[in-house]
Parts: sequence; structure tokens; C-alpha cells
Amino acid sequence: MGIGSLQRCPTDTGSVQLSSQELTWGTPGRCPLCGVVTDHHWFYEVKSVEYDESREWVVDEMVGSQGEVLVSRCMSRACDALALWLKSVDEESGIENVRLVYPQTGVRIPPTEGLVGKEIRLYEEAAAVEKMSPRAARALLRALLEAFLKRYLADAGHSAKRKKLVEVIDLAVERLDLSPTLKMGLSAIREQGNTALHDPYSLIEDANPEDLLWLFQAVDELVEELHVRPQKWADLAGTKDDDEPL
Ligand SMILES: [Zn+2]
Repeated sequence: MGIGSLQRCPTDTGSVQLSSQELTWGTPGRCPLCGVVTDHHWFYEVKSVEYDESREWVVDEMVGSQGEVLVSRCMSRACDALALWLKSVDEESGIENVRLVYPQTGVRIPPTEGLVGKEIRLYEEAAAVEKMSPRAARALLRALLEAFLKRYLADAGHSAKRKKLVEVIDLAVERLDLSPTLKMGLSAIREQGNTALHDPYSLIEDANPEDLLWLFQAVDELVEELHVRPQKWADLAGTKDDDEPL
């Protein structure tokens, strides 16, 4: 799956697929370490040199019982980080699979602007545990949503300190003019986060991993709607300040 937060099939408007933002082998994409979208050096053969039984130096491929080790390197000069991959072949189907095994830093990158330090850490932490513990990721996204909305409401002069998250969301929709569609996404984060915390056994660990991507997407769109878009439009409108209104 490639990069891009939202992909809509042109022939089926009811089917929307979300990308996990995870880098896939052999195609340009988001570096798992620095987050830059770039091409990478792909090392299709990784070899070592070792003694064989006759004490001769021989070239040996990095192949073990689990598969073959491959390596890529980020082409961003500031990063230059290596990533390690494991190539294996499914015995039944014969299909080749190359999966990223290091670094496991998470499959989503926080929005580049709009979140502050502690909120960014919650986002990164949720992304880092997404595969290992989807329940923990849901609880962290819920905490992030609450922190972000309360900060924004406070900045806009509306105290939400002692309010429950359900009230905070209602207040944000009312006072910060959030769209009804986005409200549904935020409510989903609240409900699934609550379930993860208070009724964790009802959430099956790896059921519907796509659902979790949609919750991340709701956070991304919240930041876009409250911060990125207004800032951008204000900047663009500001360039015309000296002109006579037409
Ligand atoms: Zn990088």
C-alpha cells in the first residue's frame, strides 16, 4: 500500500480505503525514521563473507530459516538511516512477502503542524503500539483528542476543564464550528477509547485494523480543520491587505 491518507476508488464511491502510511519495499515512501517522503536505496542482495568448512573465505547470503534479510537506506542526507526487512515466501501460495522489521516506530506520522509537544508524543505513542496493542492505541488517541480539544477551547476563551469528553466534543462543535461529519469521527474516537479502557475484552485485538486507521484519520482531519486550513487561508487573505476591497 502506498502513501496517501485517503484513496477513493473512482468506480465505487462507497468504498474508501485508508493507507497505513507504512513504507513498502521497493517504492518511494515515508521513511520510518525521519518521516520524509523520499526514494530509498534498496539493497536487493545483502551478503556476508565467512569461513566455510575448508577454512576458505566464501560469500554467504543473509538467508536464515525465517527468510532473507534485505536493507534499505533513506536518501534524505539529514537522516541516512538504515531499515531492515525480511523477505519470505509463503510455502502454499508461493507469494513473496517483504516486511519491515526495523525500525518499528509506528505506521503513522503526526501532522507536521498544529499539535504541541505532549500531543505529538501521544500521537507517536499510539502509532508505535498500533500493531502490538490496538486497544492501547485507541486509549491514547482518546487522551490526545481530549488534550487537543481542551487546549483549543481554552485558547478560544471557553473553559472545558471539568467537562467530560462527550461535553467537550459538543462544546467544540458548537463554539469552534466543527463539521458534523468530523463530529462523528471524534465521537468514534471517544467511544472506542472508552471501550478500550473500561471494557477491553469486547475489543478483539486484531479485528478490523482498518478501523484504527480511520481514528487516526479523524485526528488528522481535526488538526487540519482547526489549525492548518484557517492558518493557510488567513495567510493567503493577508497578502491582499493593502489592496482596496473589490
Ligand atoms: Zn529518513
